[in-house]
Amino acid sequence: MMQRTLVLIKPDGVQRGLVGKIITRFENTGLKIIGMKMVWEDEEFVKKHYTEDISKRRGEHVRRYLVEFLKEGPVVAIALEGINAIENVRKIVGATEPKAALPGTIRGDFAHTSYSYCDAKEQVVKNLIHASSDENDAKNEMDLWFKKAELHTYKTVHDTHIL
Ligand code: ADP
Repeated sequence: MMQRTLVLIKPDGVQRGLVGKIITRFENTGLKIIGMKMVWEDEEFVKKHYTEDISKRRGEHVRRYLVEFLKEGPVVAIALEGINAIENVRKIVGATEPKAALPGTIRGDFAHTSYSYCDAKEQVVKNLIHASSDENDAKNEMDLWFKKAELHTYKTVHDTHIL
């Protein structure tokens, strides 16, 4: 099933100079970049991305940390397209907690922090990436971060060799 999904390289990924390495992970699999930009958003916008849902799932404090974190610097927003892109991207990104993320995933290879460490320090889990979790989130997040004119339709060699 062809899908579109949203990836954000969060401020830790940008400030650690990992943008190129992270994008390569997605490009290597043949997922197509159909939109990409660096943006520095304000609190109002970030709260539309990390909605009340995150408070319900993770606690109000986590949403507060996340909103502060996402507005602290620029992020790179990437729209990806491919077969089962939502699930495939989450697989490449790895588990939410870097301590649990397997080697070979972005979070497993480039981070190692844990929930308990971050809870004790009262800070966000810096895990480099956001990736849409399901079809509903992917649609809402694509609409939030990208205008129609910022998304492109074009052919790559993967259209011949992978799809
Ligand atoms: P994911 O980003 O893997 O989809 P969630 O949507 O559940 O995971 O959480 C959003 C983000 O909130 C995580 O990527 C992480 O940065 C942060 N986070 C989640 N749980 C905690 C926690 N207990 N303490 C601090 N930060 C957290």
